[in-house]
Amino acid sequence: YHTLRVILGDQLNAAHSWFKKHDQGVLYLIAELHPEATYVTHHIQKLCAFFLAIERFADALKENGHQVCYLTLDDTLNQSLEEVIFSLTEQHDILRVELQRPDEYRVLAQYHALTTTNSTPVFNIVDSEHFLLPFNEIPRLFHAKNPVRMEHFYRKMRLRFNILIDDQGQPEGGQWNYDNANRNKLKTKDLTDIPAPLCFQHDVTHLLERIQRHQIPSIGQAESTLLWPVTSQDALNLLAFFCEQLLPNFGRFQDAMTNQTSHSWSLYHSRLSFALNAKLISPKHVIKAAISAYQENENIDIAQIEGFVRQILGWREYVRGMYWINMPDYQQQNALNAERDLPSYFWNGQTKMKCLASAIGQSLDYAYAHHIQRLMVTGNFCMLTEVQPEQVDKWYLGIYVDALEWVELPNTRGMSQFADGGWIASKPYAASGSYMQKMSDYCGNCHYKVKEKTSEESCPLNSLYWRFMVKHRQHLAKNHRIGMIYGNWDKQDDTQKHAVLERAEWCLDNIELL
Ligand code: FAD
Repeated sequence: YHTLRVILGDQLNAAHSWFKKHDQGVLYLIAELHPEATYVTHHIQKLCAFFLAIERFADALKENGHQVCYLTLDDTLNQSLEEVIFSLTEQHDILRVELQRPDEYRVLAQYHALTTTNSTPVFNIVDSEHFLLPFNEIPRLFHAKNPVRMEHFYRKMRLRFNILIDDQGQPEGGQWNYDNANRNKLKTKDLTDIPAPLCFQHDVTHLLERIQRHQIPSIGQAESTLLWPVTSQDALNLLAFFCEQLLPNFGRFQDAMTNQTSHSWSLYHSRLSFALNAKLISPKHVIKAAISAYQENENIDIAQIEGFVRQILGWREYVRGMYWINMPDYQQQNALNAERDLPSYFWNGQTKMKCLASAIGQSLDYAYAHHIQRLMVTGNFCMLTEVQPEQVDKWYLGIYVDALEWVELPNTRGMSQFADGGWIASKPYAASGSYMQKMSDYCGNCHYKVKEKTSEESCPLNSLYWRFMVKHRQHLAKNHRIGMIYGNWDKQDDTQKHAVLERAEWCLDNIELL
């Protein structure tokens, strides 16, 4: 072989130009690596999803006539990627190593160390051919350590790629954003309409056995069959199912939460994030398919399709830009000086707070929670209770099947924890129990009383919310989106204010008991 091409576990893009030609002198390396499996404690279903997707990708490449070196943990043992690469280049007298641009800073640093050596082989990084926004344009659109708003970026992307834009160059339907049509609660009568999610049933017993044999630590519920998509065909099937069954209500119930049905964990969400992040499917293709479905199906209105396009063309590309422009500084940010430990129920779901128990419980069961659960339930709780952002990041990075640092970190540290002081969010996403009651049915069967603020049974979020708002008043009162909230606080008498703050302190001091 003259060339080694390295494929990472999140670079399973069969449409990459690498694979357009067959060259018997090119060897493709794809491997399970101990350091990748352990840099954070991953959910067991996430480990299985990546390992199985890697295995299937290697098989498909071989079937297509490429030369493939597929290594499992049994072959690589404790070796790093660098060690695996060098042992192969020596073994085969390889002159040239090609790498696809990685999405994570950690891996790019490893690659830079390789590419700056002057030895043989020569290292070369090529594009991963996945995102819509070219990597080299990130510095033009994003500014380090400065707020850049998603909405602004998203409009540019709509125009640039001519997505949902009419003949006059205006947004289709007359509005750029239908966010305010995305806030419906699920009523009891809506629950029976929620379609059962499309779940795959991939046998992963051999992977569970291997993961255990190599003593890879993990969290969450192990299942012998994996429900996540692991090939591009799976991803296409999941996308087709989404367009037909879920898109008609996607925007409408995007922010809703329930624990009243067996489909509560996924609702109308696409669950395409793993397939997208592993690059089994391209964002361009997902957007195109969803827009075709909208054009062909009169049950899908503009608010549904726009809400979906915004997530992928807007948020997903935006957080990638924010990540790269702010790394490595992003991972040091702690603007609110949060220093407490993550409570132990994040690892077992055992809390009396129904909202938290539901979001954490389903995360442990499925390696998945939808956006509002991540942002407004677990994220909000961590922010109000001042959990150290590093610990919050580790939890999110480990538990979700779709968690890769480039997308996890800006969402967690930035959007949900406000630890970047507002680069991403124009205000902290802080919420009391009334938000939970408005958007979910969690409060109905909760141990705590959502209407109460100070009693022993009062919803902890109520007092914690006010403690947070009062503590950061100087900073937040200037913000026009929240300044007026302080009027509600000031109206209360001192005894009430004191009781609320006292209850909040009790909750913080006894956080493990909540
Ligand atoms: P859908 O609701 O069906 O949305 C469609 C697609 O839009 C998703 O698949 C995803 O690719 C994209 N998308 C939606 N929201 C976002 C967003 N805020 N940022 C980037 N892409 C978005 N997403 C990840 O992919 N990996 C993560 O590690 C991750 N960590 C998060 C941590 C926190 C604290 C929060 C608040 C959000 C996080 N998200 C993350 C974003 C979002 O919650 C998930 O992308 C989404 O829940 C995945 O489920 P879905 O595919 O059913 O999404």
